[in-house]
Amino acid sequence: MKLAKAQRRHARKQQGSKNRAKARKKVARIHARIADRRRDFLHQLSTRLIRENQTICVETLAVKNMVKNHRLAKAISNVGWSEFVSLLSYKAAWYGRNLVKIDKWYPSSKRCFDCGHMLDSLPLDMRVRTCPECGVVHDRDINAAKNIHAVGLTVFEACGEAVRPGRAKARSGKLR
Ligand SMILES: [Zn+2]
Repeated sequence: MKLAKAQRRHARKQQGSKNRAKARKKVARIHARIADRRRDFLHQLSTRLIRENQTICVETLAVKNMVKNHRLAKAISNVGWSEFVSLLSYKAAWYGRNLVKIDKWYPSSKRCFDCGHMLDSLPLDMRVRTCPECGVVHDRDINAAKNIHAVGLTVFEACGEAVRPGRAKARSGKLR
């Protein structure tokens, strides 16, 4: 990787030398480029999610571990989940979509989507679990996502009028 290479080169240069200063700048430039790319990626992803879906349900806090997609995980660890959610929020408003935020305390992982059974605890590293009640084998993240989606739609229907941004048509125009 370019960054690691630049960092190694920087470390090898003599303290206080001109070359070391140059190498340090190079490392900083690569860092900045990576941050830009990640920000871009989150912008593109949030725009796509909003354009392709009428209603999106998100948990207000994603445990780092829950983000399986490597690229997404890295980008989010840089920017922060709450910032990603705020990107989704303003784009939802812009395009006339519904964004339902689910409280981070909702036990989305511990609840069995199929039968509603609630586990007392679920270690973070347990990626797959079998429900002791109904025996269904769940992928942790997919089970959590299904719960968030279901509760989100319920919340949305219950207070839809309050959440729905009127009959506002999606505004046109480019938004990034
Ligand atoms: Zn179950």
